[in-house]
Order: sequence, then structure tokens, then C-alpha cells
Amino acid sequence: MPNNHHAANDLADQSTDIPQVGLAIITGSANWGLAFPEDVEVDGVRTLRRDMSFETPFGPSDNWKLLEFDASITVEGKTKRALCMYSHGNPRDHIDHSCHRRAFWVLMKAGVRQVLACSTVGAVNKAIQPGDMVINADIIELSQTPFSLLPGRQSFDCSGKQIVCPRSAAFLAETARRHWPAECRVHGIEQQLVAAHCYGPRLTTPAEALAYRSMGADVLNHSIAPEATLSREIGACFVPLAFVTAGFNDYMDRDRQKLLQEDVLPSLSMTASRVALETAARLPANPACSCQGLKSRQPAERSIRF
Ligand SMILES: [Zn+2]
Repeated sequence: MPNNHHAANDLADQSTDIPQVGLAIITGSANWGLAFPEDVEVDGVRTLRRDMSFETPFGPSDNWKLLEFDASITVEGKTKRALCMYSHGNPRDHIDHSCHRRAFWVLMKAGVRQVLACSTVGAVNKAIQPGDMVINADIIELSQTPFSLLPGRQSFDCSGKQIVCPRSAAFLAETARRHWPAECRVHGIEQQLVAAHCYGPRLTTPAEALAYRSMGADVLNHSIAPEATLSREIGACFVPLAFVTAGFNDYMDRDRQKLLQEDVLPSLSMTASRVALETAARLPANPACSCQGLKSRQPAERSIRF
């Protein structure tokens, strides 16, 4: 079981090396096969440092990059920096779902207020096709993230409402619609689509896909729940950039051994990566939205008196 007993302050001194940035980009299967952002040709984006590691109360967090967006491409006309981590590859040598808690501890100490997370999804809504991009509005997380970062047991309330930032989603959709292939669609947050979370690495079985579909899911995602929930816990806006690599019929065909539509990912990973970087550049540094207020401090007497 994850150990929640460490106080985040125990290693406060070890956070001094963490760059202070407002923005984080979490990369994943949407960027597979690419060195992000080095292989993505977006003018004005450069990698200041790579292979950065930080100590956290839960162990080391590796493979961080520090990115810089030139003043010429940011909405404020000022240089800004972002932390970037490849979540599907962290750590590099084994599967460890608790890596998200270490990563978001780093982002909390960095002062991050906006998180853009890239991934691929499977669609269990028949109208959503491979190649489509989906900015879902809600998530289903049956287990609730076991890797909470909230200090104290009852010090804070974290709302499940507006788990995806509508303001960031609007910037993302507008950027994506300028780049996405015309034969595919960009499903924006206004469609109120739902992403169910199921941890990988095993892909979803036909029975699981049907179960999530019957619960109201439109797409299935292996990484979104800890990313969305931990963003809420650190008081940051969260927006997912995901595209579809398997459709409903791909899940259901038990005679076909492959699930993923193999040709979708290589053609869209570069486009998705470009959309991620342009969106990151265009997100206002000071998010004027209501997401931060959805984490609220509980009255002191609830934790003092028991
Ligand atoms: Zn927001």
C-alpha cells in the first residue's frame, strides 16, 4: 500500500533545486517515439535542461526536462518556462503507478498552476473514431487515486466538479482545430464526454470495455485519473490532450488479436505534440478561472476536535 505517513515538509530542503514554473506538460503515449519537444519543430521552444532528477518524500522523480517558450510565441509576450515529464516512461525500467505522486509533489513545489497531459485513448462510444481527438469533460475513477498528496487527513476538500479546466480546454480545442487532419474530429469539452480510468499496462479486455461503457464512459484512458486528481490536489488547472487509437469495434472483436489501430499513432503523434506545445505557449500564465477554488481548506475544528 502507498505510504501516506511522510509529511511533505520532511524533505522541504530538497525542493530547493526545483525550478519555479507555472506550467507543466505531462507527455505519454500521444508522444511515443518522439523526443519531446526536441523532435517537434515549433519555433521558439527549446529544452534548457534534460535528465533532471528531484528527491521527494516518496522517492526520487527522474527524467524531467525544463522547457523555455520564447517571448515571441507566448500570449503575454514574455518568456516562460515549463517542467516536462514523460509519464509512461517514468521510471524507465519498471511499471510504478506511484510515479504520479512523486511527479506531482515536484509540480506542487514548483508552484505549477496549469497541467497539460498528453495521452492516447480507446473509444467505447461508437461515434468516436480512431484518429479523433477528445478533450473530455469528466472522469470515472473507481478506485480514487491511492496516491494522494493532500496534507493532513481532513484539512482540505477537493471537489470532483470541473475536473477539466474549461478555459484551458478552449485554448486547446482552438489550437487543435487549426492542426488536426480534416478527416478526423476534435471533440471539445462542450460535448461533455467522459473518460474512464483503468491502469495499464495491460490493455482493456472486451468485458471491461463493455463495463465502462455501461457506466457512462465514452473513452478509456490509462493515466488520466492520477493526473487529474493530483492536479486538483495541488490547486492546478488540468486539461487532457488525447487522441483515439482504438474504436469500440476494435475492443469487441475477440477474433482479431490486435487492439490498436497501428497506423493512427505515428501519423498523429507529431501533430499532437505540436498542438501541445502551441497550446502551452498560448495558455495565459495567470489562469483567470475558478479551478483553484475547487480545492478548499476545511474548518480547523474538523481536524482539531475528534
Ligand atoms: Zn482552470
